[in-house]
Amino acid sequence: MKLLNLIWIIPLVLIVSLFFIRLFNHVELDDVTPGIPCDAGLIKNADTLWVIPDFNNISISDNQTWCREILSMNKTLGMHGVEHKYREFGGNVTKEELVKGMNDFKTCFGFYPTMFKPPQLKISGENKKLIEESGMTLKLNFNQIIHKVYHCNDSDIIKNRWIKIF
Ligand SMILES: [Zn+2]
Repeated sequence: MKLLNLIWIIPLVLIVSLFFIRLFNHVELDDVTPGIPCDAGLIKNADTLWVIPDFNNISISDNQTWCREILSMNKTLGMHGVEHKYREFGGNVTKEELVKGMNDFKTCFGFYPTMFKPPQLKISGENKKLIEESGMTLKLNFNQIIHKVYHCNDSDIIKNRWIKIF
């Protein structure tokens, strides 16, 4: 009987722990690219920026002013898809497309990306291998849960204002 009374404590402890982990962990911002308007405060507040290399046929490599501006903020930068189509890495992505994205990133920032986060966190087994072979570290759901992750476009199911609270 006593044990049963205590059992609700387990989820409560987990939620409170998660709250504090998210509170003190670094903040991430998804969907950073010249083609998506982004609140300056969101960028300033974030430690890691997840950059889309070629959104709507606007390659970051063609916008050196933007590249320099992002670089000057001294953030950790990761690659977030190639064109950020819906569930892009759940479907067919060729090695050439991935390499093109990585090269755009390199032309923009001067170094190759070392981390990769797929759009909508969807990735097929085949594409997982592709990312591994590229030498980038894959960041998925676990990373998204233990960090506060905001979005430039705020179009995700989970809204920025809710993330602010939890
Ligand atoms: Zn995204």
